Amino acid sequence: MSNGTASLPDEADVVIIGGGITGCASAYNLAAKKVSVVLLERGAIAGEQSSRAWGFIRKQGRHPAEVPLAAEASRMWVHLQEELQADIEYVREGILAPAETEADEAAWRESVRIAAMHGLSTRLLSAREVEALLPQMKGNWRAGLYTPDDGHAEPRKATEAFAAAAARRGAKLFPNTGVTRIELANGRVSAVHTRQGTIRAGAVLCAAGLGTAAIARSVGISLPIHAIRLPVAETEKTTPFTQLAIWAPDVALRPTGRNTFYIGSGFHSKSGDLDVTLDALRHFKLFLPRLKENQRLVNIRVGTALLRSFAGGINSNAEAEPAINDEIVERNTRGFRERSRHHAPLGRANRRDSRYDSDHRGASGGGEFLYRGGL
Ligand SMILES: Cc1cc2nc3c(=O)[nH]c(=O)nc-3n(C[C@H](O)[C@H](O)[C@H](O)COP(=O)(O)OP(=O)(O)OC[C@H]3O[C@@H](n4cnc5c(N)ncnc54)[C@H](O)[C@@H]3O)c2cc1C
Repeated sequence: MSNGTASLPDEADVVIIGGGITGCASAYNLAAKKVSVVLLERGAIAGEQSSRAWGFIRKQGRHPAEVPLAAEASRMWVHLQEELQADIEYVREGILAPAETEADEAAWRESVRIAAMHGLSTRLLSAREVEALLPQMKGNWRAGLYTPDDGHAEPRKATEAFAAAAARRGAKLFPNTGVTRIELANGRVSAVHTRQGTIRAGAVLCAAGLGTAAIARSVGISLPIHAIRLPVAETEKTTPFTQLAIWAPDVALRPTGRNTFYIGSGFHSKSGDLDVTLDALRHFKLFLPRLKENQRLVNIRVGTALLRSFAGGINSNAEAEPAINDEIVERNTRGFRERSRHHAPLGRANRRDSRYDSDHRGASGGGEFLYRGGL
């Protein structure tokens, strides 16, 4: 991987834009095909969404169209640690989504039906089984959606491991190298421009997360991608009372390899902020049905993001740290404390003392902020 001093090659078979998990995994796999690969990242590898996901490796509760892909990915995760020669904190201890209402139970029943069509191990647990699997969490559980061979891993480590393994296979990775423009010749990609130089390439793989819409628009493709900022908190070190990843009505949690927990919003909590931007307005009709469906889960904000979006163009600089919605972080933290029978070893919540180690927004139909605060 470039340490920032190596100069860009003049050409490559494939240029990948974006050093998140999509770009790094693609570089790793393309390099295995003896294709010359250059990856360009405007900031740090895993500097944006790929270091802020919850880290669930989940087949359950997905849209039917996603299930085959998720199942195939899940099979690959089992061997990744060995294959990439890196500790990515992979744990295969299952994912549990406990339900308290009749409607949620009905939704989980439908998930089990879809899972069965694809031969997954997903099943519906009874209240008693949920209690037995997770005695540390309180709830008037009616049922639980459970997939024993789902799991979790550390997104940042997994992305960095793919990057390092891609480099070992000969891919050239350039962090701090933002793409400013894609050049077309006769309707085809011919070169990629950065502030550090230009690379001729016959193929470009755009894996730029939230930056993808602007890059695509610059070559005449309109993609409906919009961010929703969802905060994620990390506890201080504590007793890892479970190795399950849990998505409950008012809190989500994942044990990390550092004896901490990531805490996010539950499936019924108000979970994030949607900043209205020009892109949101451009694709308003497309977003509207989903927005109506999920209205109570997001705050709609009209502010500086809209003004900034008028500037348009490709942002080739690493994004500045966005604001954190402390109210949501606190609500999720409260959910964790109230649900968990595990209060004592946690420190006192103190937002002012919190460290905001990293945060950002992401694509894939939603974005998130990772807020690491002391509990
Ligand atoms: C709240 C939330 C929770 C999630 N939880 C999970 C989970 O539990 N499990 C799971 O599997 N997934 C989860 N996801 C999804 C997961 O985070 C994303 O799918 C994944 O990280 C996207 O990776 P990416 O490489 O596509 O994008 P990113 O990680 O965003 O990477 C894109 C990269 O492109 C770079 N870039 C942008 N523009 C340019 C440019 N002009 N030049 C050069 N580089 C550029 C950016 O700097 C960035 O590093 C979650 C997502 C959200 C929103």
